[in-house]
Amino acid sequence: MTSRSASTVPQSLSPVTVEIIYTGGTFGMVDHGAGLRPRRGLGGEIADAVAQFERTNGIAVRFDYTELEQVIDSSDAGTGTARLIAEQVRSAIAHRRPDGVLVVHGTDTMAYVGARMAFELHDLDVPVVLTGAQIPLGQPGSDAGSNLALALNHIAAHTVAGTFIAFGRSLHPAVRASKRACDDYDGFATVREFTPPPTPPRLPESRPRADSPPVGLFTVFPGMHPNLLDAALRHYRGGLVLECYGAGTLPMHGDATAAAVRAATTRGTPVVVITHCDSGAVDLDRYQPGRALRAAGAIGGCDLTREAALAKLAYLVDLGMSGSGLRRWMTTNLLGELSNHPATQPIPNHSQN
Ligand code: ASP
Repeated sequence: MTSRSASTVPQSLSPVTVEIIYTGGTFGMVDHGAGLRPRRGLGGEIADAVAQFERTNGIAVRFDYTELEQVIDSSDAGTGTARLIAEQVRSAIAHRRPDGVLVVHGTDTMAYVGARMAFELHDLDVPVVLTGAQIPLGQPGSDAGSNLALALNHIAAHTVAGTFIAFGRSLHPAVRASKRACDDYDGFATVREFTPPPTPPRLPESRPRADSPPVGLFTVFPGMHPNLLDAALRHYRGGLVLECYGAGTLPMHGDATAAAVRAATTRGTPVVVITHCDSGAVDLDRYQPGRALRAAGAIGGCDLTREAALAKLAYLVDLGMSGSGLRRWMTTNLLGELSNHPATQPIPNHSQN
């Protein structure tokens, strides 16, 4: 761990204190001829980038720096990655009480990991900001320094707690963010409106399980064979996010699809239906396939993003929730991940009057 303080900036103002955790991603990658891959030992370069931020912004920063033991291409993130980073964030806050925590992470799974961290760290009173880069630090055209600066500026502003993604020109609430570009400095979008509840509901106290069954995500498509969905439901027995068309429809294959879902929910596997549309919400009453899913025990996931749906379902399952309790919390807006639409609003008929 490195502990550094502001250099050229007058120290009369008390510095912003930041914990920087480097987990991998393009931000720190190098290509030695076999494609970009992550490397450790980025502390010195990050210190230089922070010093540059201080000079440009006139803000003094004192930071502590840690790296994950194994820095990864974030496409290698597993079920435990977000929890591991969240534990590091918690421990840093407990020991050093920084004004905020900055997590350098790969962009490919930043929205998934960020959403899970948002649930894990929902009780914190300091901001946690994930950032990364499309072009590695130190390479021509790199966005690493400017993304780091955006994240530091957010922490320095002492505005809101919560987990965010700072990237390109914008700050995105992690539970509403999605990676939308791999060829643009603005790689992320806030794909859904962020409406955190004025008073966040309190989840019942419970100790997270270490041995939860796996939770997964399945996207429907024309030609989807019901056996494929059935296999997913059997493997991801902890729970499955089912990303459907429109208001919550999918190929039904007679009764085969509904039978697979019914068998899974009867085994105790929750199935949460979300939509791959960018606006509107799941309405399982609207179409026959939706009704069949609902009758088979599926839960309507309203307007959850795919990343937040997976994160929330896995989080609640890890807390040991199931049945009606899980259904209730899955459909309750905990921290802005849901807008709590009653359902998709029917399209108004403009031909009338
Ligand atoms: N493959 C990289 C990663 O997610 C992409 C990036 O960081 O931009 O780790």
